[in-house]
Amino acid sequence: MEKNQIVELEITDLSYEAMGVAHYEGLTIFVNNALPGEVVKAKILKVKKKFAFAKIEEIIKESPDRITVKLNQWVQTGLASLAHIKYSSQLDFKRNQVVNLLHKAGMDDIKVNATLPSPEETGYRNKAQVPVREVKGQLEIGFFRRHSHDLVPMTNFFTTDPEIDRVLVATRDILRKYHVPAYDELHHKGEVRYLEVRRSRATGEIMVILVCLHKDFENLANVAREISEIDGVTSVILNHNPKKTNVILGNHDYVLAGEDHITDKIGDVKFNISPKSFFQINSLQTPRLYNLAIEMADLNKDDVVIDAYSGIGTIGLTVAKHVKAVRGMETIKDAVRDANNNAKLNGIHNAKYVTGKAEEVMPRWANEGLKTDVIFVDPPRKGLTLEFIDAAVATKPKKIVYISCNPATQVRDLELFKENGYNFSEITPVDMFPQTPHVESVTVLERR
Ligand code: SAH
Repeated sequence: MEKNQIVELEITDLSYEAMGVAHYEGLTIFVNNALPGEVVKAKILKVKKKFAFAKIEEIIKESPDRITVKLNQWVQTGLASLAHIKYSSQLDFKRNQVVNLLHKAGMDDIKVNATLPSPEETGYRNKAQVPVREVKGQLEIGFFRRHSHDLVPMTNFFTTDPEIDRVLVATRDILRKYHVPAYDELHHKGEVRYLEVRRSRATGEIMVILVCLHKDFENLANVAREISEIDGVTSVILNHNPKKTNVILGNHDYVLAGEDHITDKIGDVKFNISPKSFFQINSLQTPRLYNLAIEMADLNKDDVVIDAYSGIGTIGLTVAKHVKAVRGMETIKDAVRDANNNAKLNGIHNAKYVTGKAEEVMPRWANEGLKTDVIFVDPPRKGLTLEFIDAAVATKPKKIVYISCNPATQVRDLELFKENGYNFSEITPVDMFPQTPHVESVTVLERR
């Protein structure tokens, strides 16, 4: 097999990155945007020893799950790489990811519930982070073509709150008006690298963050003033990122206009959010995820609860009034400050958050003799560490509620908890990210 060869393929599976999978002459072939059940004529793009990548030239037999995507750019850029699949099939795809991982781990006895659908299938994101580049002599916002840094100009981001798209476009126009140069990656020159916009569904408050190469540039004051006059904007921040790096945000934030945070709400609890603090992306689905997790926890008023990987304390502060005490930890200092301030903001006196790595803080607490009743964990994609798991188990919780954004590491960690005296019987995928392959899942472990 070689590059540019055209082959006819029958697609038998969908990879976790949502690529169609086919087998051909002993090779596994990943075909962009192809769906199981389809027969396609595909062009080979790249050949490795055991697998190859291809793209569709022609669909010979089409899957009934396929729908037409309004803008090809959404799929091209990976912004919404499942957008060509019917929503109900997206939910099945996510459930199957979890089923397959459990099967590989020999845990076929675990019940995998249907994926909890998102109340909104599009326009659900409360935050956008989009690159700014010059294209054909003009400053543009958009998204990078998959596996590249070529900007595809865009003004409709599909999965983002349309109010955020409106602010992104208005900000782009202000940058154009004052001839602010877009960042030029190749020469490490120019000014604006990214635009980030966050909007609270509950209060309508909007934060605009300009991620810039320099702290100051010509007309910055005018730019900031005009952005602050866009309908709904309550906070304008400059994030200074002077480095040659793919990391989006720099270390320092400067308030250019308005507040240094926006306020949002989950259920009855108010949250102030700083520029760097993590906040769940899907505003309407988050309370449903938390309710599910809290129901599983079956809390009592005497319980000592840990909120690990706490962000700004959203889970712990949601349960604080129904339990004895909440303690939490998180690595981002600003988020921990937000969490402790958010406790005060809501009149909560029994919750305390500290800055630190969960895998270091938890062993310290265990060594101090802390006993817990329920531990909530909500780690990033890489999951938990052995140190964390050992220490968590040493505090003898009745229950550990595990919320995960990566079922592969979750299943790995669940196996470890099983070896340490904890059982679980079911798991529920929750769709926090419609139109994308990201899978969130939640389960509860109980002490044997
Ligand atoms: N539970 C929160 C945040 C979940 S996201 C919510 O639902 O909003 C995961 C959080 O873990 C992020 O805020 C991230 O900053 C934090 N984090 C990442 N690595 C960590 C570590 N090693 N120890 C503690 N927190 C960590």
